Amino acid sequence: MKDLVIAGSGPAGLSAAVYASNAMLDFVVIEKFPMSGGQMLNTYDINNYLGFESIDGFSLGQTFRKHAEKQGAEFINDEIVRLEKIDGGYRIVCNKAEFEAKAVIYALGANPRKLGVKGEKELAGRGVSYCATCDGNFFRGKKTAVIGGGDVALEDALYLANICEEVYLIHRRDEFRAARYLVDKAEKNDKIKILRSTQAEEILGENKVQGLKLTNGADLDVDGVFIAVGVEANTGLVTDLCELENGFVKADESGTTSAEGFFAAGDVRTKRLRQISTAVSDGANAVHSVEEFLYR
Ligand code: NAP
Repeated sequence: MKDLVIAGSGPAGLSAAVYASNAMLDFVVIEKFPMSGGQMLNTYDINNYLGFESIDGFSLGQTFRKHAEKQGAEFINDEIVRLEKIDGGYRIVCNKAEFEAKAVIYALGANPRKLGVKGEKELAGRGVSYCATCDGNFFRGKKTAVIGGGDVALEDALYLANICEEVYLIHRRDEFRAARYLVDKAEKNDKIKILRSTQAEEILGENKVQGLKLTNGADLDVDGVFIAVGVEANTGLVTDLCELENGFVKADESGTTSAEGFFAAGDVRTKRLRQISTAVSDGANAVHSVEEFLYR
């Protein structure tokens, strides 16, 4: 039985890996894809992670990964399908193998939330996207819409404005949730048309997106719709294992959850500010809690 399994290789999991190596724990990091970084892989410009004035998410993810590897972290490329409590720890069942560990740091992050309008599912991958940096290039010189009012929506609109002829930024309220400097940049960008207090009703098109119908009756002539309406934590594996709150694993800064020896770190846990810096901090705190738990 290992001391620890770290589930996930976003900034929280990778930070935990560095701290677990220093703590000389016997551990592995399990990641679904050999592509560390989590959600930040979808970010083309990060300017608020200390020490990096401007870096894309892929490069920062690689930097984190190399650091963890150099420190001695072992990565297992497999998908966790079940997590269960056993005597003295947890069993982590993956597609190809299974592991037992005295403690778990659960850092599986979050995925984009669906908007839930007609046409979204049918046209996903045919003009409907949840990742501007992944798919933006398909819309070079075309018209697109971004739906949402948080950091991701604003960053997506600014990114697409470099590529597209015109970008509609559609937000359901008058006030944006995103950081002020992002809203300011979008307001000053001629290619971005901001539609406040506006909601999408249906994404139009037969085999590809041909437009967007708004609840006020207007139709927008767009070729792409980027949905950025928040995230849903990846808690599907632990609904019966620990307490959740609003879909997130209920845990404080120490990562402590309602299940003994089971710690949560990063975007998957209840917290106020979901940032790379707070995820990295979570990873460190969670390992500290694991050490306290193992050596109590
Ligand atoms: P978010 O901050 O939760 O914002 C989601 C936005 O989508 C909100 O404006 C919300 O509207 C809107 N929304 C939700 N459901 C909707 C619906 N059904 N129809 C229309 N609009 C809907 O999510 P996010 O932008 O994905 O960001 C996720 C987290 O990552 C946040 O904590 C964010 O701060 C963080 N992040 C930070 C950075 C950075 O610091 N550079 C970059 C990316 C992400 P309301 O405002 O009306 O609720």
